[in-house]
Amino acid sequence: MSRKVISLSAISLLMASTAVADVPSVAADIAPVHSLVARIMSGVGEPNLIIPAGASPHSYSLKPSDAKSLQEANVVFWIGEDLTPWMEGAVETLAANADVVTLLEQPETKLLDFREGALFEEHDHSDHDDHDDPAKKDDHDDHDDHDHDKKDDHDDHAEHDHGEHDPHAWLSTENAKTWLNLIAARLSAIDPENAGTYFANAAKGREEIDVLIGEINATLDPVRGKSFVVFHDAYQYFETSFKFPASGAISLGDATDPSPARISEIQERVQNEGINCVLSEPQYNPGLVKTVLAGTESKTGVIDPLGVTLEPGASLYENLLRNMAKTLAGCL
Ligand SMILES: [Zn+2]
Repeated sequence: MSRKVISLSAISLLMASTAVADVPSVAADIAPVHSLVARIMSGVGEPNLIIPAGASPHSYSLKPSDAKSLQEANVVFWIGEDLTPWMEGAVETLAANADVVTLLEQPETKLLDFREGALFEEHDHSDHDDHDDPAKKDDHDDHDDHDHDKKDDHDDHAEHDHGEHDPHAWLSTENAKTWLNLIAARLSAIDPENAGTYFANAAKGREEIDVLIGEINATLDPVRGKSFVVFHDAYQYFETSFKFPASGAISLGDATDPSPARISEIQERVQNEGINCVLSEPQYNPGLVKTVLAGTESKTGVIDPLGVTLEPGASLYENLLRNMAKTLAGCL
């Protein structure tokens, strides 16, 4: 009898330790992606965050501890090189044996085109429908034969090398919901034992985002129709999700420094069109925002598309969007 008890408890101990050992080591690039992964892993384990709060993903250098997280990872979830061009090599070499999920490249991800103009004016890229043609993409990158309405604000084009799509795709609630399912599926593939939990968490996470959408619309409804300008063009997905368009961006979506022509274009709009609010961001130089604000009645606020001031974890994503909506409403 006692022998049987021992062997049973030995088996259950073995099973418990096996379950723990099976939890995959998961790395995520930025805090919002980390948050969605953490939501899926709730009750199972915790992912590692590669790019710490406070750093700009557009320009960051990998620390040895980040390299270690990548090296040890079984799965890496990252936005992609359009957001973090410096990270592509690291993902390829350090996470060579991991299942790497590039979120911008998933067919389910809804992508928006990179916006060029300071005031988001429509312009005609003749290659917009040929996203897969590398020859056309090269044309796009050297910008020689662009058919822009305004040429004067493109003086700096020779120096920047952004992708064709706006990389800030996590600010679309639709993408976040899609990614919850996708993360659950990828983790379940390598950790089938916890698949039930991953998918249950995905379903709950999607419901939470639906509730959040209602809450954010209620926050934004009283200030709809008012106009704002952002520091860098990072909010297109948020604008689309909540039908709340910005009037312009001081810097491009890759956060490179704006040309003097672009700054004066924005300045003119803020002065002449009674823009209600100009938003700065925690990571970037507030001097430019002061320049744009000078001599106007516009209010200012600090908007955070990454969750710099938030505790990383499962609830960061919701808090991030909630805070963005509150900041906007407060500034307007
Ligand atoms: Zn950005």
